Amino acid sequence: MIAQSEINGIMDGYDPKRITIATLGSHTALQILKGARDEGFKNMVICKKGTEDLYRQFGLADEVLTVEKYTQVLEREFQERLLKQNAILIPHGSFVEYLSPIRIENELAVPMFGNRTVLNWESDRGKEREWMERAGLRLPLEFKDPGDIDRLVIVKFPGAKGGKGYILAGNPNEFEQKHKELELSDKEEFTLQEYVIGTRFYPHYFYSPLTDRVELLSMDIRYESNIDGIARLSYILQDSHPEPSFVVTGNLPVVIRESLLPRVLEMGQKVIETSRALFNPGLIGPFCIETVCTEDLAFIAFEISARIVAGTNLYINGSPYSQLLYQEPMSSGRRISREIKEALNLNSLKAVVY
Ligand code: AMP
Repeated sequence: MIAQSEINGIMDGYDPKRITIATLGSHTALQILKGARDEGFKNMVICKKGTEDLYRQFGLADEVLTVEKYTQVLEREFQERLLKQNAILIPHGSFVEYLSPIRIENELAVPMFGNRTVLNWESDRGKEREWMERAGLRLPLEFKDPGDIDRLVIVKFPGAKGGKGYILAGNPNEFEQKHKELELSDKEEFTLQEYVIGTRFYPHYFYSPLTDRVELLSMDIRYESNIDGIARLSYILQDSHPEPSFVVTGNLPVVIRESLLPRVLEMGQKVIETSRALFNPGLIGPFCIETVCTEDLAFIAFEISARIVAGTNLYINGSPYSQLLYQEPMSSGRRISREIKEALNLNSLKAVVY
């Protein structure tokens, strides 16, 4: 893990008046670029060959760099180029997936917005569960042994990307049969999690260490294939439906019953307080808690995304919630640049970048 002192040393050599906000061209790059520009920063997008046109077309980037593969960003020369431009990288979901948490922690010496220690807690299912439990969140039941399955479970394989390859099983036999069909080795690890029935909410928060405030900026529901397609045909498909999959294909806007908002805020607050206890100074910046709200109005949480999530793309111009907090369009992407700007004004960049 690259030490914080090393990154701080690098930032000592940065010219605060010539900071460049940089990110990879995918996921939430458009709103990150727009947000940086709206806050008066120079910005840069690093695109995989063939995707530059999208970013050029919107005209939001001062600089468009092209790479053959994303991991080129980790190469020394590339990093030096970024450092010369006083770059602060903004991590997003694809950024973490393409560069890998371990390689980011150990090889990326370019300052990144937020606390990179969080990557370790987010990417390890066991650690993530500990974090959520300690934050007092209600979690789905987990079964250690497939023989104990006594209700509908969702089987999560670590290699399953974005919900593709998850399976559902209602009893031990069904599990065995589907496991066999997948031709997995017995050593393949998996998590057996109670499938929680209810309505999903993915609240988007932002924690500012400068104001010590957790802000609820927006919320979405992930639109997932083929499960959301099966739901439309459930009456016709009955018992002959295909195995559901949970591949995110888009995002739907949502607001929540107002009486549930205090609990939503409380969950965000608890996740931040616990993160401080687990990996000081804890989570910084945007994050999301993936939840299902049951008919008893209880929130069951099954994941924390410790960085900007793609559902925030709905709100490049602000959301019903961000409009209550800010008198101007405030996306999560822009909020990141606002935090960097405030930190620069307070001479506290090291409080928000590692
Ligand atoms: P994940 O990879 O954990 O983000 O899960 C992908 C998708 O699977 C979620 O967006 C939900 O639609 C669904 N899902 C995951 N875990 C559960 C659960 N315990 N109960 C119900 N749905 C779930």
